[in-house]
Amino acid sequence: MKTYQIAVLAGDGIGPEIIAATLPILRAAAHKFGFRLVFEEALVGGAAIDAAGKALPEETLTVCRNSQAILFGAVGGPQWEALPPEKQPERAALLPLRRTFGLYANLRPITCYPELLSASPLKAEIARGVDLLVVRELTGGLYFGQPKGTVMTDRGERAIDTLVYETAEIERVARVAFEAARARKQFVTLVDKANVLESSLLWRKTVRRIASEYADVQLGFLYVDNAAMQLIRQPRQFDVLLCENLFGDILSDEAAAICGSLGMLPSASLGKARFGLYEPAGGSAPDIAGKGIANPSAQILCAALLLRYSLGEEKAALAIESAFRAALSDGFRTPDIASDGGKTVGTEAFAQAILDRLENP
Ligand code: NAD
Repeated sequence: MKTYQIAVLAGDGIGPEIIAATLPILRAAAHKFGFRLVFEEALVGGAAIDAAGKALPEETLTVCRNSQAILFGAVGGPQWEALPPEKQPERAALLPLRRTFGLYANLRPITCYPELLSASPLKAEIARGVDLLVVRELTGGLYFGQPKGTVMTDRGERAIDTLVYETAEIERVARVAFEAARARKQFVTLVDKANVLESSLLWRKTVRRIASEYADVQLGFLYVDNAAMQLIRQPRQFDVLLCENLFGDILSDEAAAICGSLGMLPSASLGKARFGLYEPAGGSAPDIAGKGIANPSAQILCAALLLRYSLGEEKAALAIESAFRAALSDGFRTPDIASDGGKTVGTEAFAQAILDRLENP
């Protein structure tokens, strides 16, 4: 029987709750489609700081290296906010994981489900039918550029972040966007700030050149400020949004809000090979952690993406996605998406509804 090793990094806040809700669904999918999943759990984030003194211990990296994919919950929380910036859970765990495994492309599919239109802050006629994909560059730009840091000057402190991109970094993520668009509505929009940023000019030039290899895919350009506005005015105009790191970070959360809750959105971070890290778009949600009410959808949909992109188990991925849709259309809702008066349930019961529909479609 085909066996796959998955590193499970639950992290902090709601991370362990939504991971616990997801693993039985993954197990059931494996059982149904005839393969075996071996889960190896490891510490990350604040939990790892408390237990092992650092956010990404060496043992965790080893578990990840021995795996075909990482299923990641969330990290961070108020307990660790007083730590120096370089020791903070997100910066000290997620960024090195992305860098270590060369995960340069972050894919966030954003779908407005018809059942949840009333949970969207936008009017139903604007949110209806939104189905877009944000492809965000993940290992370059302001988050990694050097020099970076804070120095003392005679006028006070000076903080520096550097926005730097090289051609090859843009080329590889642009190809991910064009390939994805080929399988969708064949339209890529490059989001940049080419009217003021030098790096954006390089993005435009490079993406135009890559576009010539994809004659079947249309290419459009949008300044990031306009993109932020268009996302709430007319989100259906988009298919694939290609963004540098910072713009993608911000716009993907804005796009996420259209669907009603951050708890709905999965993401896949991919590199050259099939290895990937799969994490919900949201964070550790300390405000609801421990209450058993977190929406596990994003984490469960991450599991489907993991099966699709890292393991090539497309049928199992589709089965999870359709069980999820079935639970939604049968009226199951966690509190964050309960505005239409469906059956409001907690994390476990919501996941159980999906599991039931996976086992008995
Ligand atoms: P957050 O995404 O954790 O929460 C924002 C809001 O969305 C909260 O009201 C929260 O309750 C809600 N929310 C998020 N996920 C939800 C879910 N699954 N179900 C229901 N509601 C959900 O963002 P924040 O409050 O800005 O950050 C909290 C902590 O998470 C911080 O320490 C931050 O650094 C960290 N964080 C981690 C990641 C990550 O691990 N990738 C990403 C973003 C933020």
